[in-house]
Order: sequence, then C-alpha cells, then structure tokens
Amino acid sequence: MSRLFAYRTTGKTPQPDSKWLIVFSPQVTIPQGDLYDLLTDDIGSNLQPDALVFVVRDNVAAAIATKLGELGPEEWRVPLGTTAVVVVGFTQMGALGGVHPVSGPDVTIDDGAFASLRDHGLCELFHRRDGLVRPSETTHFVHPSGKHSKAFIRAANLLVLGPEVMFVAMTILGHLAPDLEYICVDTSSISSVGHAAIQLRQLFDPSYVAPMVNSFSSWPGINGGYDFTQPKRTLVLISASTSGNMARELVKRKMLLKDRVLILFGLIQSSPDVTVLCNLVADPRYSDKLPLVTEEYREPDCPMCKTGSTAVHFVGDQFLADAIQHVGIKITGRDIEDDSKAFLGRYRCRGALGLRQQSNNATAIDSYFVDVTKLKGSVFDDRVKAACNRHLAASTKLIVNADDPGSAQLALEIADNYAPEDVSKPVSAKDLSKIGVDSVHGSVLIVAGCIGSGGCLQSISRDLRDPAGDAPRTYLIGVAKHTQHPRHGSLRGDLVYSSTDHKHAVVLLEELTLPERHGPSAWEVEREALNGLVEPDSGADLGPDLIKAVLDRIDAIDGLQDSVNSFFWAAPDGTPLGLRKTFAFWDGEYDPADASHGDILFTIACVLENLRGGRSPRLRQTAFYHGFIAPSTFGRFNDGVIQSAFLRAAMPGELDYSGDEDASREMARLLKRIFNEWDRPRGEATVEFLISLMCGRMRLKGADLLDCLQGLDGAPPLILAFREGCAKLSQ
Ligand SMILES: [Zn+2]
Repeated sequence: MSRLFAYRTTGKTPQPDSKWLIVFSPQVTIPQGDLYDLLTDDIGSNLQPDALVFVVRDNVAAAIATKLGELGPEEWRVPLGTTAVVVVGFTQMGALGGVHPVSGPDVTIDDGAFASLRDHGLCELFHRRDGLVRPSETTHFVHPSGKHSKAFIRAANLLVLGPEVMFVAMTILGHLAPDLEYICVDTSSISSVGHAAIQLRQLFDPSYVAPMVNSFSSWPGINGGYDFTQPKRTLVLISASTSGNMARELVKRKMLLKDRVLILFGLIQSSPDVTVLCNLVADPRYSDKLPLVTEEYREPDCPMCKTGSTAVHFVGDQFLADAIQHVGIKITGRDIEDDSKAFLGRYRCRGALGLRQQSNNATAIDSYFVDVTKLKGSVFDDRVKAACNRHLAASTKLIVNADDPGSAQLALEIADNYAPEDVSKPVSAKDLSKIGVDSVHGSVLIVAGCIGSGGCLQSISRDLRDPAGDAPRTYLIGVAKHTQHPRHGSLRGDLVYSSTDHKHAVVLLEELTLPERHGPSAWEVEREALNGLVEPDSGADLGPDLIKAVLDRIDAIDGLQDSVNSFFWAAPDGTPLGLRKTFAFWDGEYDPADASHGDILFTIACVLENLRGGRSPRLRQTAFYHGFIAPSTFGRFNDGVIQSAFLRAAMPGELDYSGDEDASREMARLLKRIFNEWDRPRGEATVEFLISLMCGRMRLKGADLLDCLQGLDGAPPLILAFREGCAKLSQ
C-alpha cells in the first residue's frame, strides 16, 4: 500500500489550465518506490502533468526538495525539463509554508492556490472513496430519524488509508488551538481524523499537549447522552451534513464556539453560519446530487417506497447497504402452492382470469381479477349450491349485490334458485339508501363475485345499518383474493364482528393468494414510456408509421380493462403469443389453444407471490437480501407467453440484475440469443423483453445492456426504435 496520497487538479501556472499532479506525504521523506509506482500509474492513465507538486510538512520540506533534486532523470517518470517539480510545505496551522522549486518551469503557489489544491484534494478523496452512498435503483435508505432518502453521505467510507486520513487531518490543523481539551466527533468512525491531526501537530511541536478524542454519538449525545464538560475548549468534528443543523444545535444548545464546530464533508446549499471543510456543492460532480440526500420523506409519503424500492435501515454508524446479498432465485414447476394449482386446475381456460383497473390513481390495468360470470358451468356452480343450502337463512328478506356485473349475476342466480320465494329481486349496493329505515325484518344476504381487500363489503355493512339495523347478515363471496399482507387477514373478522349482539356469517367459495398493487403496474409504466416516445420533444424522431404503431399500442393498453387477452406484444411477425405445450404449473388435461394471457399471468403471479411470502419465501427484498428471478428461469421457460408473464408479473427489484455482475452478464447472454432470433419462434417475446428493459423494470449493467441489444441488428423499425430507447438507459 502506498504511503502517498496523490490526485490531479488544475493550476494557473506555468500556463493557464495547467495539469497538476499533487503528491501528499506526511513522512520525513518521499518513499522512492511508492513515488515510482504512483507516477507510473498516474501517467499511464492521465498523461504527463505540467507540474508535480509535493505537499509535505514545512519542517522537512527543504530537505525533501534537496533530496528530490538529487534524483537522476532515469528515476523520474516525467520529463524533467518540461515538467515543473516543486515542494510545498504546510505549517503546523495547516497553512502554506515554504515553496521550494526543484526543477522545470516556475509555478506560482500562493495562499489562494494552496487553499484551492487542498479543497480539490478533499473533493477528490470524497469522490474516489464513494462518499455519497447511492444504492441500486431498488433500494433507498431509512435514517435513524425514520426519514427516507435516496442517498446519504458517509464519511467513514473515506477514512480508509493512512495518507488519506493524514491529508484530511492537515485540513483541520488550523483549528487545533493550544487551549483545546477535547476533540469531540459525532461518530467514532472519524476519530482517526482527530488522532491524526494531533500526531501531525506533534511532528511539528513535540510539546503539544494532546486533547482527548471522544465520540459524542451524534443526536443521542446532543439530546443529553453526552456531557460537554468544557464547551469552550472543545473542537467538534461532524462527519457529514446536508443541512448544518447539528452544527447549529451544538452552538445553540451546548455553548460550543461557532468556529470550533467543523463539518468535514457537506452538501449544503447555503451555509454562512457553519464551517464546512469540504462543501461539495461547488463540485460539479455533486452539485446536482443535493436533492438525493436532502429530499427526505416520512414513510407514508415516500415516493421511493411507492414505486417498490426497498427501504434499507441503518443503525448508528452501521450502514447496511454493504451487506446486501444478491441472490438469483431459480424457479421450477414445484414453486406453486397446492391450493393455487388446484384453483387454476378448476378455472383455467374459461376466459375468467384477467386484470382490471381498480386503483383510482392507476392509468392502466393494475389488479388481478376473476370474472365469476365466466365460471358458470364449472364446479363453481356446485359450490354456490352447497353454500346456499347450508348458509342461506330461511328468514332471508333482502339480497344485496356488490354492484358489479359478477356480483349482480351471482346474486340473481341465488335469488332465482335458492332463496325463499318471498324475497324480491336483489338490490344493488348503490341503491341501499333508497330502502326505508328499519324496513328489513329478517336476514340479509350480501353477494360479492370477486373481492380484494373487502372494502366494498365494509361500506355495504355500514349502509345496511339504517334499513336493517342489527339484522343477521350473511356475506357470500365468490372469490376472495388475499395478499400476503397481514392487514388483509382482518377482513373476515371485521365483517363477522360488526354486530354487537351476534356474529354475522362470512362464506367464501374460493380463496386465492395474489399480489397486491405495489407501485405502478407493468402496463402503467409501459404506457408512460410509450407516451414519452411520441411526445413532440422526445428526441426519438419516429416517422408517422412508427408513431401510429405506438399510439395503437397505447390504445390497446387503455382497452385492456376487464380483458383476458392481449396483455403482451405479439411476436415480431405479428403472431399473438400463445401457450405451446405442457405448462409446468398446470396438471391434467387442457387444450393450450384455450389458455388466455390472463390464465398464464394469473399462474405466474401465484408462483411469484408464493415465492415472496409463502411457506419458504425466497424472493424477498430486505435490508440485507435482494432476491431476484434468476436469469436461468427465462431459459427454462422458453415459451414467449410464459417469459412475458414473468416480465409483467414481477415486481421491479425482481428483475434488477444491475447489482450483480454475474447475473447481469448471464441475462445479457440469454437476451442476446433471444434477440438474435427475433424473427424465429425462440425470439417471439423480443418486444416484451425490450419493453421491460426500456421501462427500467428489467435492469442490467450498462455495458451488458449495450451488448445484448446488438443482437437486434436488421430488425424492423419499431423494434429498432425500442432498442434506441433501451440504449439511452446504458449511459
Ligand atoms: Zn421509502
């Protein structure tokens, strides 16, 4: 490991915009081997510098200059005649000391130039050590305060190598006043800066009495956990800040002196009242990153949580992002729950399974849905009959349907076939207010076709209070969709116990575990991406034919409501994707031609949901673990329609390969093979893969993305336009 810290910056001499290579050493000499390696590395990648500036302790600067002057030309990696070599001393107060030219043209180093090269060094260190921790697209951070943000500054990252710690220490030397008794740091991870500064100072002045270095443990310390005994004789170092609030509070509440509270690294827009050693706002690499760290949200309002990003917690100094383990989940035919498999066996291939637009803020279909009207003629009829024979009270006086076609048809069927003869036609939930107060003397049957959270039943339950009071109620539900989320478990309880006197009955004919809406659906993001392509200022420059094709697809997405087909793009030759042969998740006999896109999507949604929250959940996203769908899954299930269902039913992080080098490369290789055969059956899902990539649902590392897109050479113009859209993401 090198004993030198080196970085590039620019200077105004020997000519304007000169390239300077700064070499910092806290030692008595410049280690010869380290210097040689450093010059070889640096010049290999950055070309010759105009000036080579050694920054060393002022009390050894002259000696170092002499020694460097004695080196023969063959020991330098720079041409001595044209490169300025100069040794610059820093004083025990961290200021500019003597300047000792060694060889080459003259360079001017005054206080301004010295301050600027020092500031550049801090920024460079910050950049090199990734001080701004920005996780993958699928994660963001929860601060100890509970606030969520996209990124944060982590000073502990920066303090890895001795010479670099010494460099940071040099920048605080000016604040080591002789009367200091304490150096207090906000986190013990930056204690090393305090100790290094003391050590540097003692290399100038062995009699310097070292202050005690303590950690006050951040906010808990300020809020009473730490006793600042000598506030006026304490120097505080704050590792990083985006607001300056901690510095202000220390001055206000703990009586510390304003110029003795230093922020090492800050990304602070305006900070006239706090001292920031390295304010990255001035660095063009970071000036636009400010919102990433300063935009903090409470959990309910967090836009990142809403789009499915995982919130990574950190505790004290321990940031858990480092610990994220990426695990590819290989999916096989066994990964479906028995109950789901049985359900699909009963109701597949009937055109009953699809998606609809349910959430108010959705711009396209976003919710799985069973159309119970299509279940007529199946075993569902027997279940209705059995349930009515067993649960339909002889005293039933009113039948209410949940106000949708499926509920209405089911209610009518029950009224006609199983209800007591004096019961009138079922009433729609929206007409309950027209029934007179206390006019229902008997039991009430509430019929719903397919429900999710059951919110509609709760509101029916409320609306029944006036006309039916505490009359016994039976809720008959055709298909109840559950999610793994615990709050949905309470539905039955809420309905059963909504009466004070006696329990109501809840009868479920079919139950199924399906994912709940978790951020915008694949069709919503597709619609948005397509809109982006045809906007006048998109820069995509599609001709009229392509614009029409894109607009047609947007129309098709808008027409998917209550649909069971056309969820996926057709193969490039126009053939709709269809199931080809045996489907690993289905048992028994069926004709693949009868299988709808909805059937396949439903099946894959059940499989993924089982992997997320079933008995042995593997497809999880936690602070430590990023489970994703292993690329080999797309090799194993090579029917375009099944691949498309995985692409559409997955949640965003589950197709994110960008955090795992091997997985990204493997997925790219697979995609390249598929794209290569875009005009053959193996490539039938080409457009679906492209859309997934273009929407950022499937993510690869930039180079892998570009590599696989090459497979599309010679494809039709629309595919090439989508390829263009994907390629932009690699930058
Ligand atoms: Zn969040």
